[in-house]
Amino acid sequence: MPLIQLAPAHIRAIAPYQPGKPIAELAREMGLDEADIVKLASNENPLGISPRARAALLAEVDGLALYPDGNGYLLKDAIAARLGVDLDQIVLGNGSNDVLEMAARALLAPGRSAVFSEYAFAVYPLAVQAAGAEGIVARARDYGHDLAAMHAAIRADTRMVFIANPNNPTGTLLAAEELHGFLKAVPENVAVVLDEAYVEFLDPAARAPSVGWLAEFPNLIVTRTFSKAYGLAGLRVGYALARHGLADLLNRVRQPFNANSLALAAAAAALDDADFLAESKRVNDAGMAQLTDGFRTLGLEWIPSAGNFVCVRVGDAARVFQALLRQGVIVRPVANYGLPEYLRVSIGLAEQNARLLTSLEETLGR
Ligand SMILES: *Cc1c(COP(=O)(O)O)cnc(C)c1O
Repeated sequence: MPLIQLAPAHIRAIAPYQPGKPIAELAREMGLDEADIVKLASNENPLGISPRARAALLAEVDGLALYPDGNGYLLKDAIAARLGVDLDQIVLGNGSNDVLEMAARALLAPGRSAVFSEYAFAVYPLAVQAAGAEGIVARARDYGHDLAAMHAAIRADTRMVFIANPNNPTGTLLAAEELHGFLKAVPENVAVVLDEAYVEFLDPAARAPSVGWLAEFPNLIVTRTFSKAYGLAGLRVGYALARHGLADLLNRVRQPFNANSLALAAAAAALDDADFLAESKRVNDAGMAQLTDGFRTLGLEWIPSAGNFVCVRVGDAARVFQALLRQGVIVRPVANYGLPEYLRVSIGLAEQNARLLTSLEETLGR
């Protein structure tokens, strides 16, 4: 039998993650100038990278002949100081994607299961499947997590539950009290991965005190990233927070140098750049208002979002997606999430948002 067919069935069944279309690819395909293309497809920061992160990157370049600090001390120290956790509660990742994978690899296996919501982040089913475990999809409520349904979906062999708050791609947000009640109800032998990739875009009052909950819940894993509000998606750096024993378990499946030197240095600098973070939130709030006002004017529905993106209902989304591409505007189709009438649009700068709205208007003939 050919080697490829001898790979485990759960590996052969994996449908690869579909990333947003890169600007350079569209430019090649359509003969467009890269500078004329607007990409609102991957929830990237339209402000670019923080000036402090940039300076730290440049300062780090000459040290690239050396391996990174495999323990990521300087970044962990910065995170620990900022969040009030111990260093041994932090697991660094090559993006938070990496820590999600580590969690799955550390706790899942064939014969075990993990629960996630309908419309949840596509990486969860992938990580679960790569570990050979079974993914259990809990029905969504109003496009968001239905925690009662998720709790009911937990079986004896379930070792993990994934919750994105806010969720991607729908942008839905759970209230802190709801989440806390869920954590209290989940058995301690089931890990709860609380993915807070977009937490920095929330108003402070809307943020769950998730880091404080670590003391109460030994099965809680909080994940965060530098890819979104911190503007470092290309560097790949994120982290998980958990109680020491659980963090130690995740670290056992971590590649020794998974977070590279540039990423460690830039992330530590970005963490301290309060001005950049505040500006990211301000631009996002303004852009969200601009886009949703525009959708309203065009008579389009959208799913209210707490993230730096919004799903808008356009009908035949595959057609509209292609038409937007021809106009040099890249957004994200979400049919693979079970939302074939929607496009997910990342919040851009004012002129980028305006370009999207104009192109939508033209495409839809409104
Ligand atoms: C973008 C995103 C991540 C972060 O990905 P990185 O690997 O850190 O770039 C994690 N979770 C969700 C829900 C996301 O949308």
